[in-house]
Amino acid sequence: MDTEKIYRLKDLSNWEFAGTAFAVIGQPIRHSLSPVMHNAVLQSAAESNLSIKDGSYFRFEIDPNDLTQALRLFYEKGFYGLNLTVPHKVMALDLISSVSEEAQAIGAVNTLKWSESGYMGYNTDGYGMRVGIAHSLKAELKSNTVLILGAGGAARAAAVECLKQKARSIWMLNRTQDRLEALLQSLSHLEGFDRLVPLVSSDPKALSLLEAEGICINATSLGLGIQDPLPVDLEQLPLNWKVYDMVYNPPETALYRAARAQGRSAATGLSMLVYQGAKAMELWSGQTVDPQCMFQAAQRALDEQLSKDS
Ligand code: NAP
Repeated sequence: MDTEKIYRLKDLSNWEFAGTAFAVIGQPIRHSLSPVMHNAVLQSAAESNLSIKDGSYFRFEIDPNDLTQALRLFYEKGFYGLNLTVPHKVMALDLISSVSEEAQAIGAVNTLKWSESGYMGYNTDGYGMRVGIAHSLKAELKSNTVLILGAGGAARAAAVECLKQKARSIWMLNRTQDRLEALLQSLSHLEGFDRLVPLVSSDPKALSLLEAEGICINATSLGLGIQDPLPVDLEQLPLNWKVYDMVYNPPETALYRAARAQGRSAATGLSMLVYQGAKAMELWSGQTVDPQCMFQAAQRALDEQLSKDS
């Protein structure tokens, strides 16, 4: 079967695949790097010790209105692992048989695993971000000061992971203050909640409250567009702050370039993408996965996409 093709709901009804099937589902799905990353690992199963020797990973474009029907069909057809991306991560919570504690705290699932009683849901984004930051910035969230930009799903996963890792203080900044307040309200039951501090985006001096060192995490969608403004005024951010941009396409985001130009340690979100994917494969296979092969596959696909799009 063709792992590059974009499959749709209608393809599921007649789906026949003899091996172990995996898929990412979203809308849009064309640019997802998950198929190349996961197929690279699955194809190297013979040389590595991966127990899944007959796996292939597909991509499906599914409309949110069709998610209920699609998940029922994926289950019936025996898809062993699914990744969910925009806009399905929240809606899927109510359509599966169990949800991990972490995914409940985040309020979203990005990984499903088949079981006799239905799909079990997990969220590997927080893990991916933490290990991505450790890998790319050589920095730990634990006992560190963090500034999270944004108040959407990615910011929420970041905040939950920072709480879990016992970051010292977690500052949050978002364009829409009401959305940030609502996010904080929904996290108020979590341990350590008092370490989450909202900044006022309309206050030009908001960043002057920050400590001298920390990690700034861009969890807004700013940076996806080439013309986008920076999500933060780097001139106001103390120079010892490191910058992690969750955006990874374009491969050198404007925030990454501007931070590097100031001499800061900075990285884009490719490492987060790879580690959240590696964790998903670990959940499916029950084995440790070497992320290096995923990194290489994702980087290659990103380079190819760029040369096609330019
Ligand atoms: P989302 O729920 O749609 O949230 C988008 C956020 O961006 C909101 O806080 C929004 O602020 C802010 N924003 C959008 N346009 C803005 C603008 N013009 N000025 C200021 N703020 C703006 O999206 P998400 O799911 O959280 O994803 C956020 C980003 O993280 C995306 O770029 C996504 O690709 C990335 N991500 C990366 C990974 C990875 O593996 N590297 C994983 C997950 C997500 P308002 O509340 O004011 O609208």
